[in-house]
Amino acid sequence: MNAKEHISLTDQFGRVHDYLRISLTERCNLRCVYCMPEQGIVLRPKSQFMTTQEVIQLATHFVDLGVNKIRLTGGEPLVRNDAKEIIEGLSKLGVQLAISTNGILVDKFLETFKSAKIRSVNISLDSLNEEKFNSVTRRQEFQKVMSNIHTLLKENFHVKLNAVIMKGVNDHEIMDFINFTKNHNIHFRFIEFMPFNGNKWDWNKGLSYKEMMERVNLYFPGKVIKLEDKKNDTSKSYRIEGYKGTFAIISSVTNPFCDTCNRLRLTADGKLKNCLFSQNETDLLGALRNGADIKPLIYESVWNKKSVRGGMDTFEDLSNSDLNQKNRSMIAIGG
Ligand code: SF4
Repeated sequence: MNAKEHISLTDQFGRVHDYLRISLTERCNLRCVYCMPEQGIVLRPKSQFMTTQEVIQLATHFVDLGVNKIRLTGGEPLVRNDAKEIIEGLSKLGVQLAISTNGILVDKFLETFKSAKIRSVNISLDSLNEEKFNSVTRRQEFQKVMSNIHTLLKENFHVKLNAVIMKGVNDHEIMDFINFTKNHNIHFRFIEFMPFNGNKWDWNKGLSYKEMMERVNLYFPGKVIKLEDKKNDTSKSYRIEGYKGTFAIISSVTNPFCDTCNRLRLTADGKLKNCLFSQNETDLLGALRNGADIKPLIYESVWNKKSVRGGMDTFEDLSNSDLNQKNRSMIAIGG
C-alpha cells in the first residue's frame, strides 16, 4: 500500500492527521529564553515566506485532505500585518480555527476572533511574577498580557495558559499557577522543557511530569482530581476539588504521547513538518510556486512520519544534541 491510496492523511501507524498548525511568522515581540536563541535568528527576506494568499491556498489543500482544525502560531502570529486577512480567509474554510499567541496584541483582534469563530486562545505565560516574566521574555509586557487574559475571560473565550517549566526559573510557581485556576475558568498547562536549536537545552533544567505531580499531590493532598483526556490530547488534565479551572501537563520529554498524534505543521516559509521534532521537511511553498501538485507531497510526508518524536524514540536520542540540534529553533516552528 503506498502513500497515494489513503483517503485521509493516515501514516504507517494508522494515525489520522486532521489538525494543522500553521506558523505565520518567525518574528516575535518577545524574546523567550526557551524559544528564541540568545543571538536571535537571521531574519530572511519576505519573499521566502508565505504570502496571505499562499497561506490560504496551502491550508485549502490540507482541508481537502481531511484537516478539520487549524491553529495559528508563530513566532507571534499577530505581529503579521495581514494577520486579520489571513484569519478571515481561513475562517471561510469551514474548519475549527484556534490561535497560540503571547497575548500582547490580543485586544486589537477580539472582533476578528469573534467573526472568525475563534473561541480557543492559547497564551504563553511562564510566570505570574512581573519581574520573572520580564526576565524569561526579555521584554516588559507583563501588565498588557495579564489584562488581555482577563479581557478574554470576560468575553468567554476558552483560554489555555502555557508555561514551560524550568528548574530555578519558574518551577517554584507551579502552585501559584494552579491557584490561579481557583477563581478563573482557565486551563493552565505545564510544558516539559524541550530541546530545540539554540535554546541551550539541558534536562537538568527540566522538571518531569512525575516530579510535577509529586509536588502537586504533596501540596493538595487528596484534592487532585484526574480528568478524562480526549483521544488526541497532548496533555494530562486535572482539577483541584472546588476550583473553577483546570491544569494539565504536556510531557513530550519523559512521557511522549505520539501514539495518538494527529498534528502536522506548516512553517512560515511553507515547509511541511510531519512532527514537531522531524528533521526532514517538505517544501510545499516551492512546489506551489512552481505549479506542482501539492497533495502527493503531503501524502508522502505523512506516510513517512516516524512513530515517536521524529525518530528520537528514547530519552537518550532526544538528549543527543547531534540529533536535537538538527531541528529548527522553536521560534521557527511555532510549537
Ligand atoms: S513529538 Fe511528533 S509525533 Fe509525537 S506528539 Fe509531538 S508532533 Fe506528534
